[in-house]
Amino acid sequence: MKVGLVAVDGHNNFPNLALMRLSAWHRSQGDQVEWWSGFEHYDRVYQSKVFTFTPDFNSVVNSDEIITGGTGYRNYGTLPPEVEATPPDYGIYPQCKKAIGFLTRGCIRRCEYCVVPRKEGDIRPAETWEEIRRPDSREILFLDNNVLASDFGLEQIDRMGGKPTWVDFNQGLDARLVTSAKMEKLSEINIRPLRIAFDHYEQRDIYIEAVRKAAEYHITDLSNYLLYNFEDRPEELYYRMRINVDLCEELGVTIYSFPMKYHPISDPKYFRNRDYIGKHWNRKFIRSVQAVLNSTKGKIGRGVDFFEEAFGRDVDEFKKILWMPETFIVYRRVYDADLRERLADRYTGRTTHDCDLANEWWEKFSRLPPEKAEKAKEIIALNKFKDGDFVCNDQDVLDILSYYRITRDDAER
Ligand code: SF4
Repeated sequence: MKVGLVAVDGHNNFPNLALMRLSAWHRSQGDQVEWWSGFEHYDRVYQSKVFTFTPDFNSVVNSDEIITGGTGYRNYGTLPPEVEATPPDYGIYPQCKKAIGFLTRGCIRRCEYCVVPRKEGDIRPAETWEEIRRPDSREILFLDNNVLASDFGLEQIDRMGGKPTWVDFNQGLDARLVTSAKMEKLSEINIRPLRIAFDHYEQRDIYIEAVRKAAEYHITDLSNYLLYNFEDRPEELYYRMRINVDLCEELGVTIYSFPMKYHPISDPKYFRNRDYIGKHWNRKFIRSVQAVLNSTKGKIGRGVDFFEEAFGRDVDEFKKILWMPETFIVYRRVYDADLRERLADRYTGRTTHDCDLANEWWEKFSRLPPEKAEKAKEIIALNKFKDGDFVCNDQDVLDILSYYRITRDDAER
């Protein structure tokens, strides 16, 4: 049998474990397996899609049979048991040097925004760490969703202790399940980074306690995704990032935070577009956070000064940045004289465009009377500022909106 594989999200991205197992299983049956080529005829083609937002695969496939699967197709089924039990074929991803697998599947929780409970159900053992490791690699990437909730998972971590292996649980660990005993076990494997979930600001005390425990057991390389745009308020994103930056200073650890925008992948309305806006967010706020993150390469690490420059010294400054015209956010030092003065030690370069339009805008914006401020915010929240995008006859509001029409080209011209 001739089998073609299609990783719809692109096969240079994260290795697709399902395709790796299918490849290995078919090869074990004596079949010929290769990445799909438009010039070939196949007996069977597997199309796997992980993400809902990546474009569909629209090429004509010359094959007797086409099997599609993956969360990207809202297909939450599993591989046949004999395929699931086959070690992955790393040969189809020669660039991947790590072992990849699940010690456990499923989760004990039912977080509303998460597809895992629907896709995988309750937590259960999957494979031992010895089954997952590769003879030619010392690195293991575990994809478990909540390994600390499983005795089997904890037993594997225990058995890995002291082995010359570098481990990453890339879906994060549940701070609510961290205990001293579990952290001690984690400290005995070379975990790098330790990812502790911090999805909700209300869980800050539990999260902080978990990070303190990590530091106590000399785990100093930490990381996490910070979910936003769900039911959270924008300021809660600021506070969570701030907590991480402050913990780095206090404990001498490194925590890389990756803010991650919530998207309801199971809702047919938002299945193909990324336009969902959480109830406390608006289009402009989302855009502003993304503009700042572009300048920080999507992450926040150590360094209070860098954090404060990017996201503000306090939550009021963060809110000001959220409303700020995008060009001023991207070129803060060009448009903000106060910032240039504050960072004079660090930034000595000047441009011919240097001005103080950011403060001029803020002076006017923050002094608008309430009704005019409401009107301005209503328009700014939609983040569309071209002619015809909004209706407004108020000269003060129109004056404010004119700052939002300053483009990146203007800053660079
Ligand atoms: S704890 Fe994590 S994996 Fe489990 S349901 Fe919640 S978000 Fe999903």
